[in-house]
Amino acid sequence: MFTSDDHSTDFKREGREVEIRLLRALALGARRSVEVQLLLDSQLGENANFQSLSLLLADVSVPEDRAQITFEMLRRHQLRMRDSLGRAVGIKTAAMDYLENIELALNLKEEEHALTYQQLAQMAFQDQLSGLWNFRYFTRRFNEEIKRAKRYGHLVSLLLLDIDFFKNFNDTHGHQSGNKALEHVAALLRDGVRETDLVARYGGEEFAIILPQTPKHEALLVGESLRKRIEESVVDLPGAGLQRLTVSLGLSTYPRDARSVEAVIEGADAALYESKGAGRNRVSTFHPQTKARL
Ligand code: GH3
Ligand code: MG
Ligand code: MG
Repeated sequence: MFTSDDHSTDFKREGREVEIRLLRALALGARRSVEVQLLLDSQLGENANFQSLSLLLADVSVPEDRAQITFEMLRRHQLRMRDSLGRAVGIKTAAMDYLENIELALNLKEEEHALTYQQLAQMAFQDQLSGLWNFRYFTRRFNEEIKRAKRYGHLVSLLLLDIDFFKNFNDTHGHQSGNKALEHVAALLRDGVRETDLVARYGGEEFAIILPQTPKHEALLVGESLRKRIEESVVDLPGAGLQRLTVSLGLSTYPRDARSVEAVIEGADAALYESKGAGRNRVSTFHPQTKARL
């Protein structure tokens, strides 16, 4: 493409949609290039009526001043192309090239305002309230981790965590305070795991922690330390002072407890249910009927 930045900049500054529409109609219209050229050349000069020329050549209605700028720019672009290439260039070719010029310039400008890939990914995969990864991202990553573990013979542990009596907490302190408590728990979880672990908000007041390459006994220690961190911390609620929370956890490990994504999650969920049944504020591990050998 033959570039002429100065023209593109002019187009960026002024109303561009009209010009683009006219150029597109000219470049792609049914009239032959020589025909367009003849009519255009006969009009460029005094007493020209570019509005009717637009109608005649491209079948589009454009305000006179915009039409004039477009035609004059197009003509100049055609001459620049000729000088640069050292041969004559048809007016429709020039219109097409000029159009690409403008569109490129516009796209570049839009890219300046475009969100980065990282920002987009964050919006799509981050939980707004807690700042943690969301369920969608958890699902994607957990599938990947299990796949990788299968290929390389690694272990993956999964902890599911649920806040105890949270409905009660909400009823007593209000939904906003409940949200504050969720943020508090999320922060403790994020700070309480290793770089390689992944913490996600799994549901309303449920969280999931993926621990890659972590055997069950180690994951149990992580779960226990998180439980303790939360038990020993306080949430400062405006008006209601310092409040305490506890959580229950369930643990399951691939491949010793279960051998598929679904089965590992079900295992951790069953263990979590066991923790709730046994009085809450504890970590339980899944006990499958048959154990897989590594
Ligand atoms: P259990 O110990 O058995 O888990 O009891 P629970 O009350 O925590 O369990 P239940 O599932 O009955 O209640 C969960 C509550 O979590 C209900 C819902 O109001 C609350 N919750 C879920 N998501 C949010 C949220 O985003 N913000 C707030 N404030 N509350 C939430
Ligand atoms: Mg729950
Ligand atoms: Mg709960």
